[in-house]
Order: sequence, then structure tokens, then C-alpha cells
Amino acid sequence: MLRTHTCGELRLSDVNKTVILSGWVQRIRDKGGLIWIDLRDRYGITQLLLEEGRTGAQLIENARKLGREYVIKVTGKVIERVSKNPKMDTGDIEIDMESIEVLNESKIPPFTIEDDTDGGEELRMKYRYLDLRRNPLKNNLLLRHKLSLETRKYLDSQNFVEVETPYLIKSTPEGARDFVVPSRMNPGEFYALPQSPQTFKQLLMVAGYDRYYQLVKCFRDEDLRADRQPEFTQIDCEMSFVEQEDVLNTFEGLIKYLFKEIKGIEIEDLPRMSFDEAMQKYGSDKPDIRFGMEFTELNDVAQNKGFRVFDDAELVVGINAPGCAGYTRKQLDKLTDFVKRPQVGAKGLVYVKYNEDGSFKSSVDKFFNADDLKNWADKFGARPGDLMLVLSGEKDSVRKQLNELRLEMGERLGLRNPSDYKPLWVVDFPLLEWDEETRRYHAMHHPFTSPKPEDTGRLESDPGSVRANAYDLVINGVEIGGGSIRIHDRELQKQMFKALGFTEEEAQNQFGFLMNAFEYGAPPHGGIALGFDRLAALFAGQDSIRDFIAFPKNNNGRDVMIDSPSEISKEQLDELGLKVVPVKK
Ligand code: ASP
Repeated sequence: MLRTHTCGELRLSDVNKTVILSGWVQRIRDKGGLIWIDLRDRYGITQLLLEEGRTGAQLIENARKLGREYVIKVTGKVIERVSKNPKMDTGDIEIDMESIEVLNESKIPPFTIEDDTDGGEELRMKYRYLDLRRNPLKNNLLLRHKLSLETRKYLDSQNFVEVETPYLIKSTPEGARDFVVPSRMNPGEFYALPQSPQTFKQLLMVAGYDRYYQLVKCFRDEDLRADRQPEFTQIDCEMSFVEQEDVLNTFEGLIKYLFKEIKGIEIEDLPRMSFDEAMQKYGSDKPDIRFGMEFTELNDVAQNKGFRVFDDAELVVGINAPGCAGYTRKQLDKLTDFVKRPQVGAKGLVYVKYNEDGSFKSSVDKFFNADDLKNWADKFGARPGDLMLVLSGEKDSVRKQLNELRLEMGERLGLRNPSDYKPLWVVDFPLLEWDEETRRYHAMHHPFTSPKPEDTGRLESDPGSVRANAYDLVINGVEIGGGSIRIHDRELQKQMFKALGFTEEEAQNQFGFLMNAFEYGAPPHGGIALGFDRLAALFAGQDSIRDFIAFPKNNNGRDVMIDSPSEISKEQLDELGLKVVPVKK
């Protein structure tokens, strides 16, 4: 027998039992007469005790030969600890050791297996199986497991069925690059890995499955960031005979359920904000509404006073930072530097201090007197002690810049508490988005998204103004998911492909299977997909999804542990009919 208990299990009530435990040696403390060993497994740590004079000499000698991360099996008696450790679940007891068996030795690990490890990122990625032994990562994966279990429970309770869809498919247009897989049996031809199961889940609706879901891997060949991975998991869903409200309510239910079950938090009804409002008030389609500081537009009070920068701008817009009038020159310079960084891209920052005594001090005192600035303050709803920060320029870019500044101020003022959760729905997205580079419209969500019926008439005459039945779930400034009510009418789908610049032939080639299916009784349907890795990170109050994926890729899309991607053999290439043309790196 290798164990009677796990290392996280024994309590005072077990005192006097003889037990067998197996696990890894976390730490050995040798105080001469007394030796303590911390034995670890997934469930916790149990302290083992050896005492000179009481414990056999041979056993002590063997224990002294152990090294970190050795795998051992021990037998001993549970005894009450003299000095208890209330921080540990097993902190009331220890094991008076009677025998020890080394099940496997271990090399000295390249970094410490502690909550705060000394290992750098790359090294930990290379030895991911060691990194995964650490509590922070282990807890992340356990949280992920719980999330997937509860997600399945909820969706099952709502009549959703989990259906698997293929990974070797043909390109799906979700706006990213495809990963492709060569086909040996069909030389010169390639499968694409799904960017999402979008078309398949729609076909399942045509097939009458009514409510589908899948916790599914999706693949997108994009440039990586902390919150992106080339393969990631979605909670992918589709429903038949639904309107937008039905989908929103069902998934609002899921979000509330998950917060309640996993974090014990009751989430209030989710506010709904139109895309236009989100852009106007927050400069972002994923607003962080944990804090205010909404945008105030100042064109009517700030223009035509002789300040050219404002007069020439399409939009003069700002935020009011409460209680920040005391900012020093240095702090203001820092903020100016922040908005001028290339990632933000503003040309400068105008500030107005609304001093406690009611006076104003601004960076544009030359152009605006106290009355003018009081008008601004009134617009902002600012109070003495506040600091108004103003940007100007072309509407879309200045809103984006101010969004960055707002988030930065929120951060500085401690208003973005990771354990405070404020989800919302952003709705009424534009259907299409103009792309300067390719000089044509792209689907903002994907080409199967339906236009709002009242806007459909403008699909040809004014495509840019057409709104979609599309929605995003946003939590704390993070886009957790999105979906739409789909087009289920072949004619409308054709019209949509046309608006996207597909010729009829191209559309038929790429999506004929879907359009054909629409001729056999496609029900009205819609759905959503939530980023599962992101949801897990968010539940843990963290930004990076990487630590919620057991075996992630690094920023260059590499798995440094298994060393992938890698070259393949000449035989493999020949068999696939492929020839590698070296490219300069
Ligand atoms: N397939 C979409 C996505 O991956 C989600 C959806 O429309 O259901 O973003």
C-alpha cells in the first residue's frame, strides 16, 4: 500500500493512528536533535518528525540523505504538535516517523518549489511540470476545473447538450489567421484548425439540437500578448428560437451562477450599454465600470477662445479626477509623459486644478479665465479639490487616448480593485467596420451576424451605419465573450457576403455548405462564446491567462518545454508532398 491518507488530510482527531503517506519532500529542517520534513502532495503538506534518541539511528541517517523533491513513502504515528501552526490545515499534528522508503530520487530542481519561487519565467516554462507543483499554479488549475464543472452543471440544467465538433476543418472567418495542417491523403491540400466552431454550431441548430455547448479549443495565429494564446478554450454555445434578450438572460444567468457558486458573490442584474454610449463615455467597447470618471465633452465651452489646439480639434474631451488637485508638477509631467507614449499617442495633456479655495490653476491659463474654467468644472460636475484632465483631437483617436488615461487614473487612485466585479453587456455593435488597408468592409463580429431588422435596408446604401444584433460580455474592462443573433435566411446571408466584398462564387466556395443548409429549414438562432481561460484568470483577480493553462506557449508561440514548433523529417515532408523553402528570420 502506498498511502492510507493524503498529505492534506490528517487532523487532531487522527492522533494515535498509524498512517502511511506518500509525497514529495518539500523541505528538511535539521536542528541536530530534531529533524522535520515537510511532505507535500496535491492536497497539502504534512510535517514529519524524527527525534534523536527516540527515532531509530538508521532511520535518521536515511532521512538525512533525502533531498528536495525526492518522492518518499513514510509510515508513522499521528501525534499532536507541541507548537501548532494555525496557518496549515494539518498544523495541529505531525507524524512520528517509523519508516521511510525512497520511491524515487530527484535532481535538485532548477528553481525552488515555493509560492514565491526564485525561477525566471523562461526557466519555469521549460520545467512546467515543476512549476505546476507550486501552489499558485496548482490553485489556478483547480479553480479552472471547478469553473468548467459548474459551467457544465448550469448549462446542463438549461437543457444544453455538449457536442464535439471537428478540429480538422476548413477555414472559419473569425478575423484571425488560420493554423493549417497538411493532408497526406490529399496532397497539396490543407485542413485549417478552427478559430471557433462557429459554422458547426450553426449547423447543429439546423439539425435541430436546439441548445448546444462545448468547452472547446480554438486556434488563432495571432501575435501574442499576456492575455492571448494561439490555442485557447471557449465556452461555446448556440441556441435556437431565441432573440437577443433570450441569449443575454441565459448567459447572465450563467455568470451570476458562477460567481455565486465559486466566489460566493451575488452579482446584480447586468447593465446594458450601447456600443455608441460605451465609446462616448469610456472611449472603449469594453468599459471598466468599477469606477466613474466618465468622459465629459467640452467643445461648446472650450472652443473659440483662441486656443488653436482646441479650435482645430474635432473633439475636446476630458475626465475629472476627484481629489487630485494637489498633484505636483512632477506628477502632472508624468501624466503628460504617459499620454504622449507611442502606445497612447496623444500630443499633449491639458490640466485644470480646481483648488480647494475655489480658484483654478491650469496649463491653459493664457486662453481661459476663471469664469471659463468654472464652466468646464460645471460640465464635469467637478468640486474644489478635483483635477480635470483634457485631451483633444480627432474623435475616435482622442477617445481611445482618454480611455488609456482614465484607466491609468483609475489604477493610480486604487479604483480597480480586482476582487470587485462589475459585469455588463455592450450591445448594438456596428455590423461592419471599414478597413483602410484592404479598403473594404469587414464583419465586426463575423459574417454570420444578423443586422438589426430596422437597419437592413441600408446594407447597400450605407453599410457603415448598419447596427448588428451583436453583444459582448465585459467584466472589469475585459472582454469575456461575445456573440450574436445569426442570419438564418439564405438571401440575407448572400447580401451580407456581398457587402463584405465576396463574389458570389467566392461565397459559394467558402460557405456553400452553410448556405445550402439554410435551404433546409434553418431555425432562427443565436449564440455566444466566452473565453474560458480569461474567465478563470478574472475569477482569480489576475490579468495573464498563461498561468491558467497547464501547458501554455511563450510570447513567440513556442512551447519551450517540448521545443515546438520544430522541424519535421525529410520523410515526413516527402510523404506530405511538402518542400520547405528556408525563410530569413
Ligand atoms: N464564434 C464567435 C467567437 O468565437 C462567438 C459567437 O458568435 O458565438 O467569437
